[in-house]
Amino acid sequence: MAEKRDYYEILGISKNASDEDIKSAFRKKALEYHPDRNKSEGAESKFKEVNEAYQILSDSEKKNRYDQFGHAGVSGAQSGGAGFEGFGGFGDIFDAFFGGSQSNSGRKASYRGADLEYPITLSFEEAVFGGEKGITIEKLFPCDSCKPVSCVNCNGTGQIKRAQRTMFGQFTQVVTCQTCSGTGESFDNKCQTCKGAGRFKNSKNLFVTIPQGIDDGMQIRLQGEGEPGLGKGQNGDLYVIVKVEEHDIFERSGNNISMDIGLNIPTLVLGGTIRIPSIQGEENLTIPPGTQSGQVFRIRGKGIVDVREKNKRGDQLVTVNVKIPKKLNKQQTELYKKLQEITEDDTKKNVSDWLKNKIKDTFS
Ligand SMILES: [Zn+2]
Ligand SMILES: [Zn+2]
Repeated sequence: MAEKRDYYEILGISKNASDEDIKSAFRKKALEYHPDRNKSEGAESKFKEVNEAYQILSDSEKKNRYDQFGHAGVSGAQSGGAGFEGFGGFGDIFDAFFGGSQSNSGRKASYRGADLEYPITLSFEEAVFGGEKGITIEKLFPCDSCKPVSCVNCNGTGQIKRAQRTMFGQFTQVVTCQTCSGTGESFDNKCQTCKGAGRFKNSKNLFVTIPQGIDDGMQIRLQGEGEPGLGKGQNGDLYVIVKVEEHDIFERSGNNISMDIGLNIPTLVLGGTIRIPSIQGEENLTIPPGTQSGQVFRIRGKGIVDVREKNKRGDQLVTVNVKIPKKLNKQQTELYKKLQEITEDDTKKNVSDWLKNKIKDTFS
């Protein structure tokens, strides 16, 4: 999604601008970019942007929300271009600021429904292998018990004409009808289901397809499963936000799986083949003689399938650590002692060599 520009910046005003400043900045920009007058490329999108900024900043409640939360505080309401649709042609804007003949374009507002988020927690295996997961969401639904009727407040036009006296003289302003939010539709107050709202809250069961290899923090978008739009506006989307639980043994980084394993001294010294757990069961791992503690072995292709490219697969990384026994039986103790005796001479020799070299380095 493209980054949205700051509304104050769009209108070229400061955050402290008065209502009058906002209005006059909007008038200037709207006249400059209105597609009926400005045929240059990009004028229409500029105009929409200007209009959207004005819709928010001219409404004290929306302005407060915008000042506090930025675009997130006012998203949904304007993302369908409601402001532009609601305002109609150049005539309406001209009328709004300079008075004159009323030309009602009859274009009604429509609002895209809000996007919803649903957090979901998956086990390590569910994320690695994917599958289907049932969820229950609470959201608004369009009322199916009553039919929309024409809004009485605006006669179904979605707009209210209001006479106003300003520094430009008296003029008729066209504003969005508050009763129907400019959609021109209203619903039966006596409707048991929606009580006149046209929408009602209910729960819905959905199956979410978890793609193989999904990772913590990723989102699954279910198009149209957000809240219903108003007027002709389309539904919002549902974003399922994935959280993946930690695994007892495996740790994930991208498509690779790492794990630590402790091995006894003889295996590290003499080498051998060990069995290690993998996400597909068990694997053989060959430990070469003289393996050091902390050495990492890579088993290619035993990691996680890439969530986007099914033929790409990560590796399994095994870090081998030495496991020192805390208790020994009699035989082991004897053998370790024997080993110590024959190793000691080597160690003494190594230490004295090291010291000799150290002294040589320091004084030469
Ligand atoms: Zn209305
Ligand atoms: Zn209803």
